[in-house]
Amino acid sequence: MKFRFWGVRGSLPCPETPEAVRAKVSTIINRVQSSDLVSPESRERFLAGLPPELFGSIGGNTTCFEVEGSPREILVVDAGTGLRELGTFYESSPSSPKHYHIFFTHFHWDHLQGLPFFQGLFQRGNTISFYSPMKGFEKWVRQQMDEPFFPVPLSVLPARMFFVELDEGPLVIAGTQVRWRSVNHPGSCVCYRFERDGKSLIFSTDTELRVVDFDKSPENLLFYDEVDVLVMDAQYTLDEAIERPDWGHSSSGLAVEFALDFHAKTLYLFHHEPNHDDSRIEEIGRLAQWYADHKRPGGLKVLVAREGRKGHKV
Ligand SMILES: [Zn+2]
Ligand SMILES: [Zn+2]
Repeated sequence: MKFRFWGVRGSLPCPETPEAVRAKVSTIINRVQSSDLVSPESRERFLAGLPPELFGSIGGNTTCFEVEGSPREILVVDAGTGLRELGTFYESSPSSPKHYHIFFTHFHWDHLQGLPFFQGLFQRGNTISFYSPMKGFEKWVRQQMDEPFFPVPLSVLPARMFFVELDEGPLVIAGTQVRWRSVNHPGSCVCYRFERDGKSLIFSTDTELRVVDFDKSPENLLFYDEVDVLVMDAQYTLDEAIERPDWGHSSSGLAVEFALDFHAKTLYLFHHEPNHDDSRIEEIGRLAQWYADHKRPGGLKVLVAREGRKGHKV
């Protein structure tokens, strides 16, 4: 099962500042040795040896995630600003019409604000199906495209649109099974579990883990246990989580505990705090891996979610 992160930031978009870009370039130049510059191969080796926080970026878009469907059936979770990049990727060259399936976790701004600039909506022949278990969610999606918030209402756009209120049962789209569960977040939120070709992935953004979430109830075990990939809200450090109870997000430490408790194989830290720059987030990732190894050596791979067209496979 393939998947891509199109937007990994929490709460609001965080474009790289000019100062941050200059600082990265300056640090790289200070590291380079004359022997690194003697050939194209040595230059590539030098660049490949740089830490990810220097050579690249985690990305600055808000939540948008893609999981494998088919060339014409695109499965997406949330419509944060990363959705604009996804639309550019699929719609920039003329091609056959597509069916986008957009699952919403909830309707906070950072999970909606890319929708007005999603090219898929502006392409005649496309179909967009929106999904959420929240009753009447069509009204909220339409409202944020109406005046005075945006000048072009959904009703005048050429793509065909459907709004599907999810019931309890699983859904299968283009060979991928989708299930959902409620998670703890102000105003309510859901996470999604995807299964395909014997592999499983849970996408759980905007989740403040509680003691009850760690219960080994049949429902929890059925949904969470032994998942191949767990993408989990890890917006805060432990200090920040203690200062912000009931803000609706988890610490990276708690995300590790949860992943270990339910025997996840790989954990992606997600919904990065806007006040953390790339190097801080990479440091949080390294600490989380150290903590996981301390608790259960070799038991869990911890990665930082990064935006990128290349994507991942499980
Ligand atoms: Zn959010
Ligand atoms: Zn939220």
